[in-house]
Amino acid sequence: MDIKKVDSFDGIDLYRLSDGSSFAEIITYGARIHKLCVPDRFGDLQDVILGFDDPFEYKGNNPYFNAVVGRVANRIGGAKFTLDGKEYNLSKNERGNQLHGGFEGFDRKNFTAQILSDGLELSYVSKDGEEGYPSELCAKVKYSFENNALKIEYNAFTDGKTHCNLTNHAYFNLNGDFSPVTNHVFKIKSLMLTDIDSELIPNGKFEDITNTVLDLRQGRILSDCLKVKNNRLLDIGGGFDFNYIFTNNVDSVCSAWSPKSGILMKVYTDRPCVQFYSGNFLDGTVKGKAVFHKHTGFALETQGFPNACNIPHFPTTVLEKGQIFHSETIYAFEIK
Ligand code: BGC
Repeated sequence: MDIKKVDSFDGIDLYRLSDGSSFAEIITYGARIHKLCVPDRFGDLQDVILGFDDPFEYKGNNPYFNAVVGRVANRIGGAKFTLDGKEYNLSKNERGNQLHGGFEGFDRKNFTAQILSDGLELSYVSKDGEEGYPSELCAKVKYSFENNALKIEYNAFTDGKTHCNLTNHAYFNLNGDFSPVTNHVFKIKSLMLTDIDSELIPNGKFEDITNTVLDLRQGRILSDCLKVKNNRLLDIGGGFDFNYIFTNNVDSVCSAWSPKSGILMKVYTDRPCVQFYSGNFLDGTVKGKAVFHKHTGFALETQGFPNACNIPHFPTTVLEKGQIFHSETIYAFEIK
C-alpha cells in the first residue's frame, strides 16, 4: 500500500491509498471516502462510491456521502437520553429526533490526518456539549487499502462518560455506471431486525424476519424485494432502511453483487449490526459523479444497536472514561 497526499484546498486535504492500480481516495472533511476504484470483470477500474467529481464539494448539500458518522450513528428518538440520572438534550436535526450526530456531526468536521506505516489515521476531538453530548470524545479512524479491500478501524476515548456509535456512511454502486442498484444481489446473515416506528426510530421491539422477503440469508435481487406489496416495514422505509442484527459474524456478514460489472463486495465486521439502506431518499437533487436518483446507491453501515441510549435492553453504547471504543470493518472486493 502506498499513501500520498495528492491535493489540498481550503484546509481540506486529499490522500490516495493505492495498491497496484486499485486505489481509495480519502478527504479530511468528514474523514470521507472520495473514490474507491476496483477492477470489474473486464479488468477495467470502476469507482464504486457515490460522490462528487471535485473532492472539495462535499461541504455542500449531500446525505452524509461516505462520511464517518458520529458521535452516535442512526436515530435517537426525541433527541435525548438520560445518563446517570441526568437528561441530555441533543440537537434535533430530523423532526424532533437526532439523526447521525446532529446538524454538524463528524461528517461536517475537518479531521487531522497522519500517514502511518500501515494506514492513514484521521483524528477529531469532539468537545464536551457538542450537539448536546456530554464529555469530550477523541475519535481516530484509520483507513488502509490492500488487495482490493478497504479496512476502517475506529478508536475512541472520552474524558467522562458519553455514548459512542461510529460508522461510515459509504454509498456504494457496484455497476460502474451509477445505474440503479436494484439489479444487485444482497446477502445478510441475519434473522432479526430492530423494529421501527413510523419515523424510523427503533422502538425496542425485535422483528423476526425468517423466511420473509426481508430475510436475505440466501441472497435476493433488490428489485424482486421492492416489488412486494403490503410489507409493513418496506412501506415505512420506502425500501430497505433497516438495522439487521447479525446471527453469526465469524466470516463476512453481508455482501452485494452486481451482475453488470461482476463486482462482489463482502463486508467483514466486529459490530453486532448493519443498517442496510437502499438509497430510498435519493431523489435526483444531488448531482455529482452522476445525478443520484432513488436507489442509485446503497449503504451497509456497520454499527452498534441504534437508539440504544433509550432502550435499556439493547447492548449499551455507553463509553466510560478509561475505556477504548474499538471496532473494525472491511469492505473487500472481488469478481464473481
Ligand atoms: C438512514 C436513512 C437516511 C440516510 C441518510 C441512513 O443511515 O438509515 O434513513 O436517510 O442514512 O441520512
